[in-house]
Amino acid sequence: MRVLVLGGTSEANKLAHLLAEASGISATMSFAGRTKAILAPPISCRIGGFGGVEGLIDYLKAENIDVLVDATHPFAEQISRHAEIAAKRAKILLAVLSRPAWVRTVQDLWIDAADKTDAALALGHEPRRVFLTIGRLQIEAFAKAPQHFYLVRTIEPLALPPRLPNYRVIHGRGPFVVEAEEKLLREESIDVVVTKNSGGEAAFAKILAARNLRIPVIMVARPGEAMQAAMHDPGEVMDCILRHQLARRGV
Ligand code: NAP
Repeated sequence: MRVLVLGGTSEANKLAHLLAEASGISATMSFAGRTKAILAPPISCRIGGFGGVEGLIDYLKAENIDVLVDATHPFAEQISRHAEIAAKRAKILLAVLSRPAWVRTVQDLWIDAADKTDAALALGHEPRRVFLTIGRLQIEAFAKAPQHFYLVRTIEPLALPPRLPNYRVIHGRGPFVVEAEEKLLREESIDVVVTKNSGGEAAFAKILAARNLRIPVIMVARPGEAMQAAMHDPGEVMDCILRHQLARRGV
């Protein structure tokens, strides 16, 4: 049986390890190719877009894919939409693997934002020192709030300098440690953190650090409805794939 995993997340990599050990399954991991330093999975991989939904359908058919797993990041909206349409049209099983969102506790000072534009507005008029950990493609939205200082953290260097008058870029890839995050927030005199509600453990340390230091967090909500039927555990997805394999064999 052939499985295509749309990846780019640690959950996808965990699933790849399970798939690599399963018998009778040939699995491929697909990366968008955004980051140069890919964590090589233990299954075959391909890199680059498919050329829209039609391209994805063509790929599924050409490669005789039986199961499509959408294990992309919760904020990767477009590819998830394409996966849903393509699986339906190619009449194959779609399994969605997505980490659960972070949940606010009474100790948190979260300000909800619907999207990046809303987050930029939520910073207010008064100049503030902002820790911006929202992903390099989203930084542009903050050009509309130039009165603030931005400490921008990205995984890889930015291709172009951001259109912000007052910023500094640092690089880092999770998992982050809460003590180090607290030190960073203190040393940079950060007033507010801006983040997407990505969920997962690797980036959670900044949420804990902000909680401990009583620093507000502007939390950008996940896009829409797509994750409703998602499974959160790679093992659960693996079970679903194995059940499908048995059903196909008529067992
Ligand atoms: P996106 O906006 O949903 O997708 C844009 C286009 O990139 C898609 O239409 C598709 O191109 C291509 N693409 C995306 N994921 C792909 C994959 N796994 N394999 C092949 N092509 C893919 O996605 P994004 O937000 O730019 O994220 C890109 C990748 O980075 C995703 O795989 C995601 O898991 C990972 N990632 C995203 C975030 C985030 O915050 N968005 C964070 C961490 C990791 P075609 O239309 O040409 O097929």
